[in-house]
Amino acid sequence: MAAILPPAMLGILGGGQLGRMFAVAAKTMGYRVTVLDPDENAPAAAFADRHIRAPYNDPAALRELAQSCAAVTTEFENVNADAMRELAKTTRVSPSGDCVAIAQDRIVEKSWINKAGLPTAPYLAIESVEDIQVDLAPYLPGILKTARLGYDGKGQVRVKTAAEARAAYANLGGQACVLEKMLDLKLEVSAIVTRVSAAQSAVFPVAENIHKDGILDESIVPARIDPALAAQAQSMAKKLADALDYVGVLAVEFFVLADDSLVVNEIAPRPHNSGHYTLTACLTDQFQQQVRAMCGLLPGRTDLLSPVVMVNLLGDVWKEGGGEPNWDVLVEAPNAQLHLYGKKTARPGRKMGHFNVMAATADDALEQARALKDTL
Ligand code: ADP
Ligand code: MG
Repeated sequence: MAAILPPAMLGILGGGQLGRMFAVAAKTMGYRVTVLDPDENAPAAAFADRHIRAPYNDPAALRELAQSCAAVTTEFENVNADAMRELAKTTRVSPSGDCVAIAQDRIVEKSWINKAGLPTAPYLAIESVEDIQVDLAPYLPGILKTARLGYDGKGQVRVKTAAEARAAYANLGGQACVLEKMLDLKLEVSAIVTRVSAAQSAVFPVAENIHKDGILDESIVPARIDPALAAQAQSMAKKLADALDYVGVLAVEFFVLADDSLVVNEIAPRPHNSGHYTLTACLTDQFQQQVRAMCGLLPGRTDLLSPVVMVNLLGDVWKEGGGEPNWDVLVEAPNAQLHLYGKKTARPGRKMGHFNVMAATADDALEQARALKDTL
């Protein structure tokens, strides 16, 4: 397929922070950008040429997007996959609606991961109340997760006994869920792959991810694991992208178990919070890769320029009543870069921004990043 070149118009479903950083990358390369998002304060709108303010499934808005854009992508997986398939009839859409449909349902997602020959935690798919009447011992203690619409640890309940699991399932209103065995995690890591075709893909360096209350808190790159294990995570991510015949940026989250084996946790059909370090520390960042892949350009090089730590800034860091944190020290640190998403109101748990710190080693970067966070 012919490459789409600047100043073509590119469309994105969703105008949150991921859409905003996509828009910055696309605009920098000389493309124009249309954002579809119902929120008039959508963070991406500030960088877009055009903001179509409508629900994601509004047929007229989707038609407009397809007609006016040379290619369309998405910033999140909870869009209507059918709407994406519909868009694909008249414009170039990546990733495909089929890939998004897989990533938006944990039951389908896990079975795909296993079908691609990669391990997941032992899990039970629960589509109706009969499914949870079996022996649950292999999945306990476990985590009950809603199959759809969970993120940042939302829609998850930790359960110890079968009775607790059944009660939690009822509490979630009987919607489709997976019951996943709680694994003893040594570490969590992620690998983000950009794939344009079977012959053309590039994987970013593996990030080590520290979560707090189910939300990503810090990413440390390179991950402090055996390089052979990191290489294995990269090749697993690529294998999954190949199995899906994926076009675009695909993030794969892994658990590292006590015996140094890797288990796939979940995938995201888009740039990922754990890839924000690439904005500062890689030759090509993950949003530039998203632009390149959707336009049919080859992926850029993913070399790491320096060890780096990314720290998420949640609304919790804002002062009571919404006052700004003390930015003075952070903005003057010569090896730190602050990214704020332009969100008007800070709420606990809301992703407001992040900062990246580069240093000679990952451990140094982590120490400096934590000290900088303490100044806020
Ligand atoms: P989300 O879609 O909210 O990111 P995840 O499935 O990634 O949901 O779970 C969030 C976090 O909860 C994970 O990053 C991990 O720290 C923890 N977690 C999830 N599943 C398991 C598991 N099977 N065993 C141990 N910890 C888990
Ligand atoms: Mg996750």
